[in-house]
Amino acid sequence: MFIKILKYLMRLADGGARSPQVVFAQFNELITKVPLLYAILLVNSLSLAYTHYAIAPDYLTIYVSAFLCVTCVTRAIRWYRFKNLTFSLEQAIHQIRMTVFFANVMGIGFSWWAYTLYQYGDFALQSHVAYYLSITVIGIIICLIHLPAAAWSASVTVGVPFVIFFTTSGEPVFIAIASNFIMVVAVLVMITLSYYRAFSSVIDAKQTLELQNRQTRKLNAQNELLANQDGLTKLANRRSFANFLNKKLADENQQDSFIVGLIDLDGFKPVNDIHGHAAGDRVLTEVSARLKKLLPKDIMLARIGGDEFALVIDHSTDHKEIQLLGKGITEVLQKPFTMRTGLVQISGSCGFAIYPEAGNTADELMDRADFALYEAKSRARGCSIIFSTEHEQLIRQKSQVELALTQSVSSQQMTLHYQPIVDGNTGKIVGLEALARWFHSELGHIPPDQFIAIAEKTGIVTEITLSLFEQAIQQLSLWPEPLYLSFNLSVHDVINRKTLVQLKHILDKHGVASSRVQFEITETTMMSDLEHCSNITRELQQMGFKIALDDFGSGYSSLSYLHKLAFDTLKIDRSFVHNLHVDQRSQGIVKTILALCESFNVSCTVEGVESEEQKDLLLALGCTHMQGYYFYRPANIEQFTLR
Ligand code: C2E
Ligand code: CA
Ligand code: CA
Repeated sequence: MFIKILKYLMRLADGGARSPQVVFAQFNELITKVPLLYAILLVNSLSLAYTHYAIAPDYLTIYVSAFLCVTCVTRAIRWYRFKNLTFSLEQAIHQIRMTVFFANVMGIGFSWWAYTLYQYGDFALQSHVAYYLSITVIGIIICLIHLPAAAWSASVTVGVPFVIFFTTSGEPVFIAIASNFIMVVAVLVMITLSYYRAFSSVIDAKQTLELQNRQTRKLNAQNELLANQDGLTKLANRRSFANFLNKKLADENQQDSFIVGLIDLDGFKPVNDIHGHAAGDRVLTEVSARLKKLLPKDIMLARIGGDEFALVIDHSTDHKEIQLLGKGITEVLQKPFTMRTGLVQISGSCGFAIYPEAGNTADELMDRADFALYEAKSRARGCSIIFSTEHEQLIRQKSQVELALTQSVSSQQMTLHYQPIVDGNTGKIVGLEALARWFHSELGHIPPDQFIAIAEKTGIVTEITLSLFEQAIQQLSLWPEPLYLSFNLSVHDVINRKTLVQLKHILDKHGVASSRVQFEITETTMMSDLEHCSNITRELQQMGFKIALDDFGSGYSSLSYLHKLAFDTLKIDRSFVHNLHVDQRSQGIVKTILALCESFNVSCTVEGVESEEQKDLLLALGCTHMQGYYFYRPANIEQFTLR
């Protein structure tokens, strides 16, 4: 039975039953408590040896006690040194087991010594022995409260002989002490048990809490990543790009100049519309892969919008080198993308702003890069531009135009010039295109492509359109039939159904048939929202209006979307006419477009005819309707004889 209990206690001391955290916590507690335990034992034993000195034999009071005390000191020092060492789990378990072992061995050793001294003393000294043994057991239990196995086994090995020895001594005082001892030890054992349970559950709870903390930290890190990363391309997103740029600018060590670049894909939207969103996603992923491969590894590259990318790069501010960088970017984006539905061709434009010339804040730099990008896009596909002082002037000019624009719409400063559309064979005028003209008293003549773009940005374009349409319809009502009016609509007008209703209202007011009005809508406008625009144009056709697809060939021409659009006329962009007589390719393209118009059963008009040679060549290719300086320049309606 006794052996069984001991074995059970030893098992309790084993690390296997507890979590490693509890073992380490126990071990840490023992490191401070075990030296204290030996100190108690040392002081108690020295005092017992002192009271028995010269009464008991020297070998007991000097040599045995010295041996026991040296053992105590050695063990205490050993444990004290553990403070500075690192232990593995196995080593900690081993030391804990050794503590149980030593608690018992030393307990037996000291008890034997005390019982041997007992026989030499009088009643007072015998009481000291009883006191020594009982207080030592209580000391052991308290100091080893974190290791119940050691506390209990030591109280058994020391306490049981103590109780037996003193209850059988026949001395009533010792019998009373033994009974008190049983009570106190029983209560202490119970306290140890509940304390130990609380201790290990606190440690376990702490561990669970730590685990939860770690998981929370991990989740936070994941959230942080998601909040700062573009899900599709895994590049930084707009938010983290802005943070990065702001941090870089706030960094006091940031003295060198650097470049902020914006890249915008040209012709990406049609990819989504024609090939589907999955293909669009694949193009974006491939674009990011190409850019990553091209650009240095340590730069900030982000996707800040649908098809907009941004970069911050520590780079030489030499314009030639930046142009080279822009060229590299636009070249990799121009290479075709292989999709399941076929090859996709897009391009990319870049705008660069150099810190600190172009600005000192993130907003300034981004605005300037955006301006340069806008300039690049308006020049040609796949172009890159660096923001310069001339652009600064342009910005100022634009804001002047913007200001003037808001004031002049109401004062009706906007007028119309007309450019005839003729039958190339006869030179007869078949229709007239209305072109907006704006003469500002201070700013002079402002070209329409400039102010229309600004008016679109500021949202004032609707007012301009309606006011010009009113003027144009008044004119049209005076023209002989079947002359028609061709009127340009901007993207804002097309998207806004309300504007279209207002246009129809103006027409009805003047009693003009809608079949005499052709709306020119550019290919780029159509591509901005293929689905919506084709619905709108279909509605306009149902109202009786004609639709011309303007500037065809200047945008992201993809013949594959043409069948989705509703239009009556296709206007071939003047860029194809420009060097028609020297460029076989342009001739081929014009021929193909003419064949396409025939198969779609739509008519075709060629713009920008400037010479007889061009006219003859176009006639030979099969074009009839033409427009250009060769026939007429845009002018006041009074300049033309309309019969
Ligand atoms: P667009 O619709 O392509 O108009 C034709 C432009 O080409 C006109 O420039 C015209 O003057 C010019 N042009 C005509 N024949 C020739 C030629 O033989 N050679 C050359 N090099 N150019 C020629 P403009 O009047 O400066 O208009 C520019 C653009 O502004 C127009 O291009 C059109 O997109 C836009 N626009 C003009 N008026 C309006 C308007 O009332 N509303 C809207 N939304 N846009 C307008
Ligand atoms: Ca036009
Ligand atoms: Ca045009």
